[in-house]
Amino acid sequence: VAQPSADASAQAAALPYQDASLAVDERVDDLLARMTLDDKIGQMTQADKDSIVPQSDVNTYRLGSVLSGGDGTVSPNTAQTWADTYDGLQRQALATPLAIPMIYGIDAVHGANAVRGATIFPHNIGLGATRDPALVERIGRAVAEEVSGTGVDWTFAPCLCVARNDRWGRTYESFGETPELVSSMATVVDGFQGADGPGSAPASVLATAKHYIGDGGTTNGTDQGDTRLTEAELRSVHLPPFKAAVDRGVGSVMLSYSSWNGVKVHGHKFLVTDLLKGELGFDGFVVSDWAAVDQLDGQTGFTAAEVTKAVNAGVDMVMVPYDYKKFIGLLRGEVNAGRVPMSRIDDANRRILTQKFRLGLFEKPLTDRAYTSTVGSAEHRALARQAVRQSQVLLKNEGGVLPLAKSAKLFVAGKSADDIGNMSGGWTMSWQGRSGDITPGTTVLEGIRETATDPSRVTYERYGNGIDGSYTAAVAVVGETPYAEGKGDRPGAMGLDQEDLQTLARLKASGVPVVVVLVSGRPLDIAAQLPDWKALIAAWLPGTEGGGVSDVLFGDHRPTGKLPMTWMRGASQQPINQGDGKDALFPYGHGLTYGTGTDPTPTPTPTPTPTPTPGTGLCTATTKVTGSWSGGYQADVTVRNTGTAPLAGWAASWDLGTRTVTNVWNGTPTTSGGRVTVRNTPWNGTVPAGGTVTFGYTANGSADGLPVPACAGTTGG
Ligand code: BGC
Repeated sequence: VAQPSADASAQAAALPYQDASLAVDERVDDLLARMTLDDKIGQMTQADKDSIVPQSDVNTYRLGSVLSGGDGTVSPNTAQTWADTYDGLQRQALATPLAIPMIYGIDAVHGANAVRGATIFPHNIGLGATRDPALVERIGRAVAEEVSGTGVDWTFAPCLCVARNDRWGRTYESFGETPELVSSMATVVDGFQGADGPGSAPASVLATAKHYIGDGGTTNGTDQGDTRLTEAELRSVHLPPFKAAVDRGVGSVMLSYSSWNGVKVHGHKFLVTDLLKGELGFDGFVVSDWAAVDQLDGQTGFTAAEVTKAVNAGVDMVMVPYDYKKFIGLLRGEVNAGRVPMSRIDDANRRILTQKFRLGLFEKPLTDRAYTSTVGSAEHRALARQAVRQSQVLLKNEGGVLPLAKSAKLFVAGKSADDIGNMSGGWTMSWQGRSGDITPGTTVLEGIRETATDPSRVTYERYGNGIDGSYTAAVAVVGETPYAEGKGDRPGAMGLDQEDLQTLARLKASGVPVVVVLVSGRPLDIAAQLPDWKALIAAWLPGTEGGGVSDVLFGDHRPTGKLPMTWMRGASQQPINQGDGKDALFPYGHGLTYGTGTDPTPTPTPTPTPTPTPGTGLCTATTKVTGSWSGGYQADVTVRNTGTAPLAGWAASWDLGTRTVTNVWNGTPTTSGGRVTVRNTPWNGTVPAGGTVTFGYTANGSADGLPVPACAGTTGG
């Protein structure tokens, strides 16, 4: 376990804020009282690693945070190199008079995806198809371990966008199109941070709920565009996932570049301060998006007015990312001129420092090298392969062509059959991602060859050349090539490219039944080709363990994935109208299966989050079970007390329609602002197909101790 440098601990050991036995609030109070204005402004400044020249600027300018974003992640390094870089920068921070550690952030959005050799998990759109929040939490834990092995303390994930128009190039960063589905996946926050917030698990990394708010709802799906909705619509579609993340104690929230009815979120005091921090009770810190503050006036380059507008709206940390000297000078000037109140600066610092203390950064500021060996571990790759299997959505299976016999004579083709880069998509080894052999993994072709009884009966030719009528089936792995924000928007048609169409034409001409595996970040316009295909599987962007697609193709895993988005016929049908799937090619939730046996992972569909009744009200969450299922149900509920009096106790029950099982908790009474997470004893039994399970609980507060229950108590396996 690494420790602060000898110098720093010797100087500071006697000070109360360095005393880990004191409460975080006391430590923050003590530290704040010792900080100069420059120290405080430094804490609010986040600079890109590559812009910090010389590195000692971390010390000189008291930089509170460093990131690697966008192009900073090209030329991927090993975990070891990242850790060395991290420790070098951290030592600069520890050499400041108060030895306040910096916090390092990175976009670990589907694995430690800037590290060569890391386990790359399916992008969120595929995880949404699993309908398995517990799996997603485990993935968050695995990612946190791999990230910790690089020293990095903070991930800019999860993206809790509700993608309502698949022309948007960031659709694959979304878990899906409904607020209920996206909210249910906020479990990943517990995976990253630990179930009781930052620092509550070994290898805890700070999570970021992003991009608050409305990023997935812009007109025409334009990235960084304008979301034109009434307040009621914004609240019902785009707010619930953020509420779910706040209820789980997410440490940071990143704002969206987008506007709401023409006003940029980064300058929107009502959205940031009143709604997020006030109404939702978010006590972490708000970070801006990359260079978003200097674009507030529509031009690049910081102005004093932009800095004031953002900070006064509630931005606590500014992802500058390059010209930190200019930003610091402007903010100092605005504070000295009285245009940014000192109370706002102190509030921002309190929020940032609280998270640093909770994370344990003051006690363990340097990389814990014990986690470096978890990067790309066999255990994490097995978890990723499980996620790949569960994320496959079987959309069509005419004449039962699937599952394939392991002894079948197969022809495999398509540009993504043997391409780790295509399978992984954007945010992999570099910002936009890239086709090719970018990091170790198992391709779909390799998965097929490993599973086939006789690999010599599997022929591969990327373009489909050489196929004849002697094959049992042709497997075409086609779809999108990598892109990220900015490059991924497709306002018009979004079909297969010329190469894919020609490959598919060659396969079709052979007369062999064609099975299409579509590797893409979103539904594509395929209505014209679909009649030519016997079977279609949406594989999304499976990542380095894409070989898991073969587990479904050969029937070793029964397909269980469900569409996280309505599959429209084309651009003219956008934006998605939930519940109006009748004209869709495939409706939301569609997913076929084959094989027999009971569903190993029940997929309860939560009804919309019920409105909590304050005081002693009952709060319930109902789930519908799609298949008969036996096993144990367990629920975790986190309740925040927004009143001043302690909460007296808890009661919770399962209502199975026919009988009610009641458990009573005596959770630790929690005072104002406190959170308590309680877990009931599992209920065991069988729920018939189509049955519902209702989980309800009552929080008994005193009259002014009104609890705001998190009603999305997870019910599931
Ligand atoms: C993206 C964010 C990301 C940030 C840092 C921005 O361009 O919108 O999602 O976290 O860059 O890389």
